[in-house]
This record gives sequence, structure tokens and C-alpha cells, in this order.
Amino acid sequence: MFDKATVRDLDAQGKRVLVRADFNVPLGPDGEVSDDTRIVETLPTLRYLLSKGAAIVAMSHLGRPKGKPEPGASLAPVARRLSRLLRQDVPLTTDVAGPDSSRLAKGLVGGQVLLLENLRFDPGEEKNDPALAQRLAALGDAYVNDAFGAAHRAHASTVGLPERRKPAVAGFLMQKELTALGALLDHPAKPFVAVIGGAKISGKIDVLEHLLGLVDTFLIGGGMMFTLVKAQGGAIGRSLLEEDKLETAAHFLRRAQEKGVRVLVAPDCRAAASPQGGETRVVASDRVPDDWLGVDIGPESEAQFRAEIVGARTVLWNGPMGIFEVPAFASGTLSVARALADATKRGAHTVVGGGDSVAAVHEAGVASHITHVSTGGGASLEFLEGKTLPGVQALDTRVQAVS
Ligand code: ADP
Ligand code: MG
Repeated sequence: MFDKATVRDLDAQGKRVLVRADFNVPLGPDGEVSDDTRIVETLPTLRYLLSKGAAIVAMSHLGRPKGKPEPGASLAPVARRLSRLLRQDVPLTTDVAGPDSSRLAKGLVGGQVLLLENLRFDPGEEKNDPALAQRLAALGDAYVNDAFGAAHRAHASTVGLPERRKPAVAGFLMQKELTALGALLDHPAKPFVAVIGGAKISGKIDVLEHLLGLVDTFLIGGGMMFTLVKAQGGAIGRSLLEEDKLETAAHFLRRAQEKGVRVLVAPDCRAAASPQGGETRVVASDRVPDDWLGVDIGPESEAQFRAEIVGARTVLWNGPMGIFEVPAFASGTLSVARALADATKRGAHTVVGGGDSVAAVHEAGVASHITHVSTGGGASLEFLEGKTLPGVQALDTRVQAVS
């Protein structure tokens, strides 16, 4: 249950509010922001604070600079895009909570926004260094975390800072993410169907295990399905296999059977001679020819998965059904995306998590027809594994909240 204090609990008038956002956006070849979804998703929080008369000191990481400035990872393009979206100038500091940040933050008046340079330019960020957290804390009077996508990391801006700067509350995006994902784990409406795919079973097994007690049906596709097929004695040709996970896969299938949870592994697949592209043929998933590999689920699987999805009242989808980056292998993934959109129309609570699955939903053009498309790849997975996210834990609960 979502029990955190939010920006609505904050008396923001006349305050300088530190906002940890997730502006870790892709940049195009021209160096400009090529997809501003994550920036746009944080606008409600920023606009709300500005409307209350607050000044904002926004901060984020971008990419993976190793604790020192890296020109290609500057937040300058983000500052430009944010200026355009907010229709006001958003200056960028030249340091991370150093003298320049301090000077510019002190000069802010209500309604203004300042952006700190990439947090990961400072070696203290990823180490959750207390000195950096203290310097960040000194830049504002209150803290808001809207960076769900970074909440699974115990960094200075996500943990050390909210420990030192109270009140520390959730932004609207953080609240939206935790509420939508939380509804999957907290008394989900039944039937609950989880569609799981993607490359590796090792990356998904903790989610599968955690959901065992919650879902009615698993629909399994993607590269990971072949480790399950092989564990049941099927012939998978050159399909993706995690040899060392065969026992884990068999164990999962046994546990599911004991608990009466249905596991529908895609019965047919599209096989190709190369993962890069080329002609496909439809074969039974447990009879993939020796020199071929499964690159997508097949038409029978598409129909079966579709029927299960549209009949569900709760649907979680994580992991593409095939190598959807290759258009010829994208059919199963797009079919699942459309089925989720149809389930949503029928009143189901539908959630998509994971970077590649979210990309597929956008590609299928159905993102707006799904209840919740998560902005947090790794964070949403860890949440669904049942883990406590350190960045969420560090925030005040509603009863603690004082403004
Ligand atoms: P997400 O980011 O949504 O969590 P993953 O990262 O787990 O998803 O998986 C996405 C990757 O899985 C994609 O790069 C896709 O090409 C790959 N994939 C899906 N199906 C197969 C397959 N049959 N064989 C090889 N790779 C696959
Ligand atoms: Mg991925």
C-alpha cells in the first residue's frame, strides 16, 4: 500500500525544493534529447511546485560517467528541453553541489528552476557519500523524489540526501509508479495474468518466483522460454539457452504445478537460421530444427496468449516475445501489446515494465491505451521481485510528514 507523504503534503510556498528527477534520457546523434518521455512525466510535479510558489533545484544523472565530468553526458540538452517544456529559462550549474550550484541556488526566487549538472560527475553520488549528500541538502529546504527509475539505487541523491533533508516526500510520478505497480502485488483483481519474456531467464526468475503466489497464469515467450522448454525435454535447436539455469527452470515449473498456477509456455515459435533476420518458419517450440533458433512466438501462441490476456482483470507484461528489434521477428511482441490495449478497454488493470517492453508498446502505438507504462526498467523489476527500494524507503511516511 502506498503510504508515503507526497508533494501535496508539502508546504512549498517560498521554499527552495530539491527535486530528484529521472532525466536519464536518450540523446540523438545531434546531441539533443531524442525521447523526452521521462522529462514530460515529471512535469506535473515541477508545475505543481511552481504553482505553489516554490523555487526548484532539480537534479538527475545521465548515462554512466564514472565519477568525473564527461562532455557527452552533460545535462545541457536536458536543460534546453526542460526550458522549452516549461516555457521558462532553466539554467544549468557547472558543478554538482559545488560553489556554482550554491551561488545559483541562493539566488533563486519562487517560480524559478535551476538544474544541477549530472550527479554522476561527482564520485560521491554512486557511493552514497555523506559529504555529497550534505552539500546537496544545503541547497534546499525540502526534498521531493520523482525518480522512480533510480529508486532501486542507494545513492547520495536518492538515500543520503532524503535522510538529511526533511521533509522528504514522493513526487507525482513516484506516487503513480508505486500505486500502479503496487496494485499488482496487493490484492490484484483476478484473473491475474503475467506475460513474461525477454532474453534471459536469469534476469526474470526472481520476478517469476515472487509472482508465484499472486498470479493465476503465466504466459511465457521470448528467448527465456527455451530454457523452460529444454528443461521439459524439448528440442530447441540453437535457440537461446542458459544451461546453468535448467535446474532453476525445472524447479519453477514444479513449484507452479504444486501451487496450481498455470504456466503456458508458447506452444509454437517462429524459427530462423540467424538472429539477425531472414526467412522464418513456424515450428512447435519443443521441435526446433537443429540448425535453427526460435526468434519469436508463433501464431498459435499469439492467439492463445491474446485470449488469456483479454480475459484477465489484471495483466503484467515484462519482456518482449521475440527479437522485436528485427521487424520480421516482432509479430508476437506487437500482438501482445495490442492484446493488453484491448484488455484495458475491457476494464483490466494493465501494466508494462522493463525498458524493451516499454519501447515495444510505444512502437505498437498503444502506450496511451495501457493503464500504466512504467518509466523504471530495473526499478520496476526489483519492485516486482518484492524488494524494498532504498529510494522509496528513505521517504517520509504520511504520518511522519511535517511541513
Ligand atoms: P525488458 O527490457 O523489457 O525487461 P529484456 O531486456 O529482458 O526485456 O529482453 C529484451 C531482449 O530480449 C531484446 O533485446 C530481445 O531481442 C531479446 N529476445 C527476445 N526474444 C528473444 C529470442 N527468442 N532470442 C533471443 N533474444 C530474444
Ligand atoms: Mg532490457
